[in-house]
Amino acid sequence: MAYSKNTDAGLIVPKKWYESLPRPSWSRFEKVETSQPWFSVYETTPETYALYEDGQFEEVISYLVIGEDTAALIDTGNGIGDIKALVEELTDLPTIVVNTHAHLDHTGGNSQFEEIALYDHPWARRRTKGRPKEGIDVGNYVSGEMVWKPLPRDVDPKTWHTDPFNVTRWMKERDKIDLGGKQLEVIHTPGHTPDSVCLLESRERLLFTGDIFYPAPIYIYSPDSDMNEFISSFRKMVKADYDYAMPAHNETMVEKKVVEDVLNAIEAIKAGKAGAYKTGVANGIKVRRFDYPRFALIIRDE
Ligand SMILES: [Zn+2]
Repeated sequence: MAYSKNTDAGLIVPKKWYESLPRPSWSRFEKVETSQPWFSVYETTPETYALYEDGQFEEVISYLVIGEDTAALIDTGNGIGDIKALVEELTDLPTIVVNTHAHLDHTGGNSQFEEIALYDHPWARRRTKGRPKEGIDVGNYVSGEMVWKPLPRDVDPKTWHTDPFNVTRWMKERDKIDLGGKQLEVIHTPGHTPDSVCLLESRERLLFTGDIFYPAPIYIYSPDSDMNEFISSFRKMVKADYDYAMPAHNETMVEKKVVEDVLNAIEAIKAGKAGAYKTGVANGIKVRRFDYPRFALIIRDE
């Protein structure tokens, strides 16, 4: 998400967000005990782990996808926990980081890794660089109101930052990242950010969606977002062949039907045919919030 401050009277950040944890949908997966308590690790499918940061408001999910000769780490989370140590515990394979987009909550651990793939867009190229000692825009991610699990011992909220990182592979539309016996196919899906991609993995029939889709309030209002791009990206996502979407926040393994429902909902909003909504101000921007059973859409009020 990467665009949240507690200034919206509950429209974006619920007052007591952590009361919805643990989310019941995670109980259907096998939990894996590790030495890194900051992450809750689940075996979502035989060859894919979800690395879930359920101690922080963003509830970021990174994924470790195991191939026959290479593993892909899809996003590196907030950078709060030691994701490199965690990955080394879960696999001996060489690991390439594949980012869904260059927001901080998905690139936070990037600087720990040698091999990094990111979609080739000027916006993404700018986001790899940070300011000396401050790193990449950290915001209030580790402040008390955003965190409920104990922070790892080396994280000091006053000085915490993430470091700039080097991209070793600039991805293009329909590139295939080979993991041995399986591939991640790059589908450019701008809308949340200009560099957002989905990654299609056909052996386990999964679509890793980053922040273009997750089963929670989807922000179409922020300065990086664009509604027309959302619509064309969702059309591509509905066309792709898979069974489950693997979002980067809150919950995982969501049936493809919900992705189709989001497309129908945005198209109805665009056509002025959607139902009731709430209004409010989020991060200084006037917004409308449309609620549906499995997600919500927050758009600019204009
Ligand atoms: Zn995010």
